[in-house]
Amino acid sequence: MAARKEIELHLATLLAVDGFEDYGPNGLQVEGRPEVTRLVSGVTASRALIDAAIEAEADAILVHHGLFWRGQDGRLTGWLAERVRRLMAHGINLFAYHLPLDAHAELGNNAQLGARLGLVADARFGEQELGFVGPAVHEKTLSALTQRVQAALQREPLVLPGDGRPLRRIGWCTGGAQGYFEAAIAAGVDAFITGEVSEPQAHLARETGVAFLACGHHATERFGAPAVAAHVAERFGIEHRFIEIDNPA
Ligand SMILES: [Zn+2]
Repeated sequence: MAARKEIELHLATLLAVDGFEDYGPNGLQVEGRPEVTRLVSGVTASRALIDAAIEAEADAILVHHGLFWRGQDGRLTGWLAERVRRLMAHGINLFAYHLPLDAHAELGNNAQLGARLGLVADARFGEQELGFVGPAVHEKTLSALTQRVQAALQREPLVLPGDGRPLRRIGWCTGGAQGYFEAAIAAGVDAFITGEVSEPQAHLARETGVAFLACGHHATERFGAPAVAAHVAERFGIEHRFIEIDNPA
């Protein structure tokens, strides 16, 4: 058993939460019982994940996408009330870490995705240094890289092929980081891997020759939360289980 307070302090230091400008609060978002024996991790604090955590008799949930974001009007109604009601009724703590969880050099979403793709960053780029870039060690062609991504994520990426150049440097940033494409190009990548795509990236790929792979927001962000939660579980001697809630987006 571990004190919620200790876990919260440890995570704040581990993930350097004070160093980020973010779209939502990082740390404890909903306060549950003071002691934690069972920790569940997941990508998003959806109702399905919360219900699964209740079923698993969890004392705490650790996610990448929490409940509260800039732009919300502050009302606890509808679907948001449902989620909060379930957490509070069962005394479950909700820990959420957004950009700090993307960025952590070893346990974060970017590092963990890189590890699954055989990529190791030797530099960072973009706003708050969230983009990772490193040499293309294994795959030098786009089709080989695409196959590796597909095998690692069990999902076919949407590929904007660029000009077919050999891959020397690959950039990546998990989730909805399509807006980092220009910064990736400026950082000298030959291909950029992220979760989502928007209309402008298709033209940028054509006009700059840099390939773009949209591999799924959820699919690229499945690995950070369980890595951090497993670290917490080991450090505090508590149970941990990752619960995957499928999401095609
Ligand atoms: Zn995300």
